[in-house]
Amino acid sequence: MGDDAATPTDHTVLLNGQIYQSPPDSSLSPVLASCMVIKDGNISHIGSEQDEFVASAKQSEATVKNLHGQTVLPGFIDGHLHLLLVGQALTKVALDHCKSLDDIKSEIKSYAAANPDVSRIFCKGWTHSMTPEGVNARLLDDIDPRPIFVDTKDLHSTWCNSRGLEEICHVMELGADSPDPPGGTIQRDADGKPNGVFNEGAVFQTIWPFVARVASMEEKKEAIRSAFNAFNAAGYTGMIDMAMDETIWEPLIELRNETNGQLQGMRVAAYWLMKPDDSLDNVLAQVDRAAELAREYNAETTPDCRLVGVKVICDGIIDACTASLTEPYSNGENPDPLWPEHVLHPLVAKAHAAGLQVALHAIGDKTIRMAIDVLEKNTDKSRRPRIEHLELASARDARRLGRLGITASIQPVHSDPAILRAWPRLIGDGRCKRAFAYREFADGGAPLALGSDAPTAPHQPLPNLYVATTRRSCREPELPAVVNPEFALTVCQAVAGATHGSAYSCFADGWTGSLKVGLKADFVVCDVVLTPGEIVKGVVKETWFEGKRVFEA
Ligand SMILES: [Zn+2]
Repeated sequence: MGDDAATPTDHTVLLNGQIYQSPPDSSLSPVLASCMVIKDGNISHIGSEQDEFVASAKQSEATVKNLHGQTVLPGFIDGHLHLLLVGQALTKVALDHCKSLDDIKSEIKSYAAANPDVSRIFCKGWTHSMTPEGVNARLLDDIDPRPIFVDTKDLHSTWCNSRGLEEICHVMELGADSPDPPGGTIQRDADGKPNGVFNEGAVFQTIWPFVARVASMEEKKEAIRSAFNAFNAAGYTGMIDMAMDETIWEPLIELRNETNGQLQGMRVAAYWLMKPDDSLDNVLAQVDRAAELAREYNAETTPDCRLVGVKVICDGIIDACTASLTEPYSNGENPDPLWPEHVLHPLVAKAHAAGLQVALHAIGDKTIRMAIDVLEKNTDKSRRPRIEHLELASARDARRLGRLGITASIQPVHSDPAILRAWPRLIGDGRCKRAFAYREFADGGAPLALGSDAPTAPHQPLPNLYVATTRRSCREPELPAVVNPEFALTVCQAVAGATHGSAYSCFADGWTGSLKVGLKADFVVCDVVLTPGEIVKGVVKETWFEGKRVFEA
């Protein structure tokens, strides 16, 4: 009989734990078991140490691990993230502690000196308050001849040196007279030429595709590997990529092929990102491509790495006044959704006919209503369609989600009061009362999938659950603001959304997402108190994937 799970084994008894069992009604408290047996990667028993099953497992040479009262939760599944960007963000030079332009420059300079072989220098963590005079490309030009790219902490702006700007313009075919993309700005100098700063939509539509394109295959594989490691360390065993395309799929599959035809310690489900196009044929051809990949990579062939559906970004965000609202913003702006409804109907119908799931990004109430209408007409419950973000839904639409079996894919970290300071000014206090109506979605019977939208927000699951259940700030814990407390989820609703709900949303609930006999032994061991106020202090100690420990603190 082994003493501890120091070596991988296919038969383990976990004793003296608090093993989380979803209550039948998630407004109730969790049910906790003390003992779990795992064999050949699956959960074979949950109960108490006195059970006959446990005694015979112990006799048959199973490794016994004493949990010393720690909590065991199902492995977290991030319901919405951007895999390659997460990985790339992890390897960037951190500027968070800088206070001035000089600090930033000297930090980049020492990185450049220590890393003579990297072809480009990527940085993160810049805030505008470090550079109150404003910035442009020239300010970075005397540091290093290589292209330099600097992201703001919130990822809503990117600043580059002249060499970097040249490369962006070349690769993305941008000229001095290229217009700003929808919902974004390319900052200009006095002559109207781009000056090296990209904001909002220009980051997502120009910088991110640029970075994905110029990174080498090796760099991308390395980024994906670091994302998997970081997510295992945070307690994740699964993730749903919400903007998959060829530039990410290719390295992901190559990485998988190199590691015995199996991703290591992580399951990925992906939605293929639809790119806007004036030609309906070109739009529908993208659905064909997704369907082709889904026929090759699905639950039967590659359960750890699947292409499950298509994703359409139907509007922008409130802060940039690009989310489409039924009433104008306070400044008079009143943008339409980014995709017209008459294109979404054939797109969704075709995806449904091809067996694909559909995920629609909809933040403003006008877009949300349109998204629900389109899903209602062209797909159905059996396909588990979903809507991403749902930040400003009307009460009527909140109720429709459950009735239509539409998963509410929510990112509680986006409802952190520290990042909503502009909302009252942009949409007025009245509409702010409808913000992030998570509890209404749940009460209306909508399946919930919780995600982080990393790297646009931090990916740690326990802080995400804290914001979901307290509606308070995790970024600035001292902040007294509570965002519409009546919409808070219970701890069990939030835990379910971040585990079983995310699995359910992509048809993975048959093998992961809960701690039940017969499912994969995907779980986290943590020191945590499962109450709204305390959950944030929890610490993930170990992460297990298919019965093997893949992370230990
Ligand atoms: Zn996203």
